[in-house]
Amino acid sequence: MESISYKREIPVLGEYDVIVAGGGPAGLAAAVSAARQGVSALLVERHGVIGGNLTVGHVCPLLGSVSSGTMYDEISELLTGDCPGQPVITTRNGRELPVDPELAKIRLTRLLAASGAEIMLCTTVSDVIMEGNRVSGLVLTGPGGMFAVRGRATIDATGDGQVACLTGAEYNIGRESDGKVQPVTIEFVVSNVDESRAITAWGGSDPVKLPSGQEYRELCRERWAAGELPGNVSIVRLHRTGRPGERAVNATQLNDVNTLDPLELGRAEVELREQVLRCLEFLRKYVPGYEGCELKSSAYVLGVRETRRIKGDYTICDSDVVEGRRHPDAVVHKAWFLIDIHNPAGAGQAEGHSRPAKPYDIPYGAMLPAGIEGLLTAGRCISGTHRAHASYRVMAICIAMGEAAGAAAALAAQRKTTPRALGAAAVQELLTSRGIDLFS
Ligand SMILES: Cc1cc2nc3c(=O)[nH]c(=O)nc-3n(C[C@H](O)[C@H](O)[C@H](O)COP(=O)(O)OP(=O)(O)OC[C@H]3O[C@@H](n4cnc5c(N)ncnc54)[C@H](O)[C@@H]3O)c2cc1C
Repeated sequence: MESISYKREIPVLGEYDVIVAGGGPAGLAAAVSAARQGVSALLVERHGVIGGNLTVGHVCPLLGSVSSGTMYDEISELLTGDCPGQPVITTRNGRELPVDPELAKIRLTRLLAASGAEIMLCTTVSDVIMEGNRVSGLVLTGPGGMFAVRGRATIDATGDGQVACLTGAEYNIGRESDGKVQPVTIEFVVSNVDESRAITAWGGSDPVKLPSGQEYRELCRERWAAGELPGNVSIVRLHRTGRPGERAVNATQLNDVNTLDPLELGRAEVELREQVLRCLEFLRKYVPGYEGCELKSSAYVLGVRETRRIKGDYTICDSDVVEGRRHPDAVVHKAWFLIDIHNPAGAGQAEGHSRPAKPYDIPYGAMLPAGIEGLLTAGRCISGTHRAHASYRVMAICIAMGEAAGAAAALAAQRKTTPRALGAAAVQELLTSRGIDLFS
């Protein structure tokens, strides 16, 4: 492959105590958490809106749980504020919190602005500024061109571990056996659903029945076998959004897509937009209550479940999640979600169905990229195995991780040290002073 090197003078447009790259559930919690600590915090987001998968990805519902007192409590309250009296939905997935991506855009932006954090939108992290092995700033590309910002502590909440990767940090992608990752999906919302007859279905293990007595998952598999559902789409998941007459549809699926390659992203987009229409046709034709359903909205970007997992001082392993392991340096406690692996090599779930997990700790070491200073990871790019990631990637856990990373980065900046040298005890002290249960 041909390569070039280039040099360019760019302006330094700011200096912050904490820079957060990526404004998804982890990043926005990180920025709010840092700003509330009284430091100058900057959030950099490549899209024109914050929220990551929660907004632009149309991901619904919010899944997973963590111990009490974290920002997840606050954000879940904020996002359900428009639907008071809505029944709590509990399935094998645990608590399913319906969210409306449109209202989430407004409420999350308000939360971020109120914290005092500054927000740069339509701005992509293009490079890192290093002093030895320490990150001291980022090179950004915004609508007006390239520029730099300096930061005392930086948080990589890009999902893809983009900042850590630019530092040369080690990472893994996909299954340990063959590197395959979970498939990509475009989620969408349908309206005009007849609530008096329409089912919901949380996944391929859900035994929900149709009025005819047939299990819905059987219908899906039958129509898939008949070629009426596309590719590897053997289940069309239907979740409540918080508004009557609507469902969030998590169904389209494409395997073997390298989402770090923009050309592959383009090809996947072409295929998955067609799949949206085919899933819609299936719903209208075969599922009672959905005969008149309309496509209301869809994800603005295709949903990426899995890319880089940045190797940290500690790697969360399968047994941590399965056995519910405690860690002395816990910064998120009682993290829980099933090991939910959408099949990297075909339809349905990789292991038949999602596998059990017990509430476990996220240790501080899993958020410290090995060998790199001045940097924390938060969200789905922290250090873990493929199976562990399939549990901690859900949004409740990512929010709590973001809050912990924001607190750690702010403290490190205030004490003029690095997140690693700061140590977990100081972070735990701050988090518990906020009312977060880390040790019960
Ligand atoms: C199809 C699908 C369905 C899912 N279903 C559920 C579900 O039902 N419930 C649930 O709780 N979870 C679900 N998940 C998982 C969950 O949505 C994600 O794992 C979670 O959003 C990860 O949070 P994050 O903040 O780490 O990353 P993201 O939400 O991916 O946010 C990362 C942010 O960083 C930004 N960014 C990336 N690179 C750069 C860069 N170079 N410069 C600037 N900004 C950058 C992105 O634009 C994005 O806003 C699903 C995921 C997918 C893809």
